[in-house]
Amino acid sequence: MSARNRKVKVWVRTRPTANFAHDMIDLPPDGKAVNVHCRRDARHGVVNNQILDWSFKLDGVLHNASQDAVYNKVASNIITKAMDGYNGTIMCYGQTGAGKTFTMTGATENYQHRGVIPRAVAQVFKEIGDRSETAVSIRISYLEIYNETIIDLLATLPETIAAAQLSPMTVVEDENGCYVKGLSCHLAQTEEDALNLLFEGETNRAISAHTLNKVSSRSHAIFTVYIESRSRVLSDAKYTVSKLNFVDLAGSERLSKTQSEGKTKEEAMYINKSLSFLEQTVIALADRRREHIPFRQTKLTHCLKDSIGGRCNTLLIANIWGEASQIEETISTLRFAIRMMCV
Ligand code: ADP
Ligand code: MG
Repeated sequence: MSARNRKVKVWVRTRPTANFAHDMIDLPPDGKAVNVHCRRDARHGVVNNQILDWSFKLDGVLHNASQDAVYNKVASNIITKAMDGYNGTIMCYGQTGAGKTFTMTGATENYQHRGVIPRAVAQVFKEIGDRSETAVSIRISYLEIYNETIIDLLATLPETIAAAQLSPMTVVEDENGCYVKGLSCHLAQTEEDALNLLFEGETNRAISAHTLNKVSSRSHAIFTVYIESRSRVLSDAKYTVSKLNFVDLAGSERLSKTQSEGKTKEEAMYINKSLSFLEQTVIALADRRREHIPFRQTKLTHCLKDSIGGRCNTLLIANIWGEASQIEETISTLRFAIRMMCV
């Protein structure tokens, strides 16, 4: 399928490191491929350890790229399309420590380092200001999925966490799309309102991690911006609603046998299941002959049902940590990334 027709765009972003394994990871100058050469002594434990040389062709590679460059190159157009009524989803995939949260949220204390979400929010409000003929209202929700339980990050914690465990929130579908029943949705009248909600959600994510005794990288987080617009000039104008989802996926790393016990094992099982169904869903969407798309199998894919595939624009950022010691995870992340390239 040509790049123009593909609805899922896949970019790799490298986390800056002084120890980037240039002898093993080669980034050709055209910027659209990552070639990995796995040394004989390093290939053990790598999936299919017979293979030494891998070549991954992608939409592009962001190597040592600034937050600004990442946003302008790959994210900004999805926000513009969402303002025109098309749902969009931006996801970060990769092992813990590879830079997913830095990419999505960024460092709030440093303006230059703010990530995709605060920049998208700024763009949304700027475009609202530019479009005087359209009345637009913005609502925001922020949730976390931990072990298949949905936690509302914009509700009062920790009562909400207790409630979520007792009666789990479910995803429901109607003619307007998919939504989580009972999830709070907040009006944001200004960029600042939206940033405050992001900040509140981040704080709650940390509290929920503490309450549930987990690390936040073991959960998926979805920040959603609902854009409701109506023409101010046409008297009988209808509302159109589009959604933008920003998904900070749980760490994709595989655990060693010694780590996989008890609680950690349970978390790993849920993460594996949801990431593998995410992959299967995206692949099934690409296959026109396939009638059954396994959206409902996990909370993650069900939440995203109306926002991946079809008329939606999806961007997957595969975050890699290019140090020699991380090569197994880098290969596994890139393998996931190229499987998304057929969509
Ligand atoms: P993840 O969410 O994938 O576990 P983080 O986003 O938390 O990873 O990144 C791990 C660490 O690396 C953090 O301290 C983060 O600030 C830093 N980091 C990641 N990517 C970058 C980058 N592109 N530039 C500067 N620092 C980064
Ligand atoms: Mg993270």
